[in-house]
Amino acid sequence: MKIAMIGSGYVGLVSGACFADFGHDVVCVDKDPAKIESLLAGKMPIYEPGLEGLVAANVRAGRLSFSTDLPSSVADADAVFIAVGTPSRRGDGFADLSYVRDAAREIGESIRKRCVVVTKSTVPVGTGDEVEKIIRQTAPDADFEVVSNPEFLREGAAIGDFKRPDRIVVGTEVEWAREYMREIYQPLFLNESPILFVSRRTSEVIKYAANAFLATKITFINEMADLCEKVGANVQDVSRGIGLDGRIGSKFLHAGPGYGGSCFPKDTLALMKTAQDHEAPLQIVEAVVRVNDLRKRAMARKVIAAMGGDVEGKRIAMLGLTFKPNTDDMRDAPAIVIAQGLIDAGAEVIAYDPEGMEAAAALMPGVTMAEGAYQALQDADCAVIVTEWDVFRALALPRVLATMRGNTLVDLRNIYKPEQMKAAGFHYVSVGR
Ligand code: NAD
Repeated sequence: MKIAMIGSGYVGLVSGACFADFGHDVVCVDKDPAKIESLLAGKMPIYEPGLEGLVAANVRAGRLSFSTDLPSSVADADAVFIAVGTPSRRGDGFADLSYVRDAAREIGESIRKRCVVVTKSTVPVGTGDEVEKIIRQTAPDADFEVVSNPEFLREGAAIGDFKRPDRIVVGTEVEWAREYMREIYQPLFLNESPILFVSRRTSEVIKYAANAFLATKITFINEMADLCEKVGANVQDVSRGIGLDGRIGSKFLHAGPGYGGSCFPKDTLALMKTAQDHEAPLQIVEAVVRVNDLRKRAMARKVIAAMGGDVEGKRIAMLGLTFKPNTDDMRDAPAIVIAQGLIDAGAEVIAYDPEGMEAAAALMPGVTMAEGAYQALQDADCAVIVTEWDVFRALALPRVLATMRGNTLVDLRNIYKPEQMKAAGFHYVSVGR
């Protein structure tokens, strides 16, 4: 199959490279010339484990190329994937579909042969109809079907997720389009990944329902953590105690500073807005959005409380900034709100993150970036673990204490054991324990 991937960000680049690795002929298109130049030079514009090797191997094999030229890439393709961003629209929180609409228009101008136009971007229900309309208006005689095929990969584990997905969801009721999609994903049937054929609208809802459910699980355990703190219970044991129940499952039950990242915050909000517009308000999702928003700032207050209620003039080291480990993605990371809360209370914040500092520097102008964990900890009155990168899991505790001025360590990811930290001489505060 000849595939054109429109948008070469976290999803487009990973999907494109994986499709090439399946044996398809893929061109990854982006309108950002710097991104394409960097890819042509063999440099990855994002940090994702394993991506550089996968891209290099498929470029060498002649199956993967990069281009800013959308028209010629689309003209030749059997499948055109739309993998552009769908951020929150400023002001009202609806999904901003302007990139999707622009891409649809450009695709309409360039279609030359029968193809499927596949929406991989996360889009509100009904967007497939709109994409179809836009293309049809531009190209009345074109032979195409618009298919929804949402992506479920996780940043940091994206290649594994793409190649061994729990399921593939394909939204179209047109048989030839289903056949095209079967062929594209053929190598995954060999791994027995289930492929679910549903209607286009159903597929669009599945993606948001999945993200909203996961966000709900996280928010649920976060509130349980607050209760555990008040009543002297241990949220990790509660997670295990409920997670072993097969109906509940153990994943996404880790208490922490609230969910962030490029998907859950914007997708829960967009789903909530879409549902309100259709007079079917999702009150559980609305509560999740509200609770999670409040939690981030509450984490700054937690640090301040751990410091005795006052951080004026104190030096606070933040370890980890990205919304989760193994990515450089800083979009909607809780660290941004937490740092601001501490700065507002008069603290000086010094931070270190293994991959996210370049993006973070632009988003957190009030924070000083350090070159390593121990440099951030130098003379700190308090340390806060915000992201559970492996390098923070095995810190040399005596060295940490010797480097810091104070002994307070707030562990927002529960990666250390309270007894161990107490024995090492820390004033240790974690979440829900
Ligand atoms: P991204 O911002 O990393 O990448 C989008 C890319 O599209 C950018 O490089 C941009 O320059 C390019 N682009 C925009 N308009 C274009 C056009 N007309 N022609 C060519 N290129 C264009 O975004 P992302 O994180 O890859 O997310 C893409 C979509 O996938 C979103 O809808 C997101 O919700 C969804 N998604 C993301 C993840 C994730 O983990 N990041 C997971 C599942 C689904």
